[in-house]
Amino acid sequence: MKYIEPHAHMVSRVTDDYERMAMAGCEAVCEPAFWAGFDRSSAAGFYDYFCQLTEHEPKRAARFGLKHFCWLCINPKEAEEVKLAAEIIALIPRFLDRSNVLGIGEIGLNKNSRNELKVLEMHVDLAARYNQLILVHTPHLEDKLKGTRLILDVLKADKRIRPERVIIDHVEEHTVGLVLDTGCWAGMTLYPETKCSPARAIDILETYGRERIWLNSACDWGVSDPLAVPKTAVEMKKRGHHAAAIDKVIYQNPKRFLAQCLKFKVG
Ligand SMILES: [Zn+2]
Repeated sequence: MKYIEPHAHMVSRVTDDYERMAMAGCEAVCEPAFWAGFDRSSAAGFYDYFCQLTEHEPKRAARFGLKHFCWLCINPKEAEEVKLAAEIIALIPRFLDRSNVLGIGEIGLNKNSRNELKVLEMHVDLAARYNQLILVHTPHLEDKLKGTRLILDVLKADKRIRPERVIIDHVEEHTVGLVLDTGCWAGMTLYPETKCSPARAIDILETYGRERIWLNSACDWGVSDPLAVPKTAVEMKKRGHHAAAIDKVIYQNPKRFLAQCLKFKVG
């Protein structure tokens, strides 16, 4: 089995995780910018984080033959202070030419607040001005549906944004159809406790098909499983899915979406 892990927060993981992922068939890991578990107090903190994502982490991954790519932004969980967010967004263009940067993400909403929406619009504008792919985080709280609708409205309102260059992540049963109908891609996050279990994710695939959809572990510093994607592939096999169908979801689809950024290369 070979697969791409399109959403993992490897700065929070131990080196053994890289080794286990490589042994399971992972060829590339993509790391969206994320909340550190605490709010950073300055733009300088983000500058260092962006250096970590673009300089240090690819070297750590390379020791296990894994390619490492990343996405840059200020995560919605830290987007309440609009002035600080503007300072951080102003830092991002100087990193966009770096060889492992795929685009702007994971942007989106957390509590669906007015300030989060403002910062989301600033990020969408940044992506449009620099012709970047977009990776979107949707809220994990009970208002995922409302948040997803608000996000899709923001993207639709900006006529420069092409939906096939946007992935909306953490979809569930009640949001996946909405997302796919807009022409955007959809990501399903496999978590041991919250979000999609492997069984639920496979049910969704069986209902909505395998076009414009990918699986990820979104592993971070919390309870999560860096091997969730290959484990789900095994579950698909047990349910009778053919090898080509599994390969499409865990390898070909993420490759097709990500290769819209010419810097993304695997194999
Ligand atoms: Zn994430």
